[in-house]
Amino acid sequence: MPVPSLKKIGYGERMTIKPLIILPDPLLRQVSAPIERVDSELLTLADDMLETMYDAPGIGLAGIQIGVPRRILVIDLAREGEEPAPQVFINPEIVKFSEEGSVYEEGCLSIPEYYAEVERPATITVRHIGRDGKEHVVEADGLLATCLQHEIDHLNGVLFIDHISRLKREMVIKKFTKAAKGK
Ligand SMILES: [Zn+2]
Repeated sequence: MPVPSLKKIGYGERMTIKPLIILPDPLLRQVSAPIERVDSELLTLADDMLETMYDAPGIGLAGIQIGVPRRILVIDLAREGEEPAPQVFINPEIVKFSEEGSVYEEGCLSIPEYYAEVERPATITVRHIGRDGKEHVVEADGLLATCLQHEIDHLNGVLFIDHISRLKREMVIKKFTKAAKGK
């Protein structure tokens, strides 16, 4: 998901900004594969994803958005002026949804400059592996709950525009398909 105001964070060294995969690239519809182990190669991928996300700038990014179909996503909800708070979720799985919903205006780094309101469960419980290689369980609400659901959707080849009306979705896809052909 993109961040509305520009945020520039020097998070670390040795990281690479990767090109983003943009709609209608069919890669975005691919289901990502589970990760078998947390090794240095995976941690480098996580760092590259964070660097790419900060550069965009965004608050969440899934592996497939830089063309890597593996079940990993990164999130940082720190606001401008706050310390960076990078979070890495490996093989995330939603184990509980609330019945109560909440609506956020969402956007996506793979669908630049398009925003729409999406309703999702307000509170979720997510089980995942952290960058420490250990299993964690977090209960998320507010923007974190929305962002996690948006990014986990990416791991399943689902985009936020799949949650809006078919008419709106077809218009967006048409616009981006036209733009891609124009290049
Ligand atoms: Zn997205």
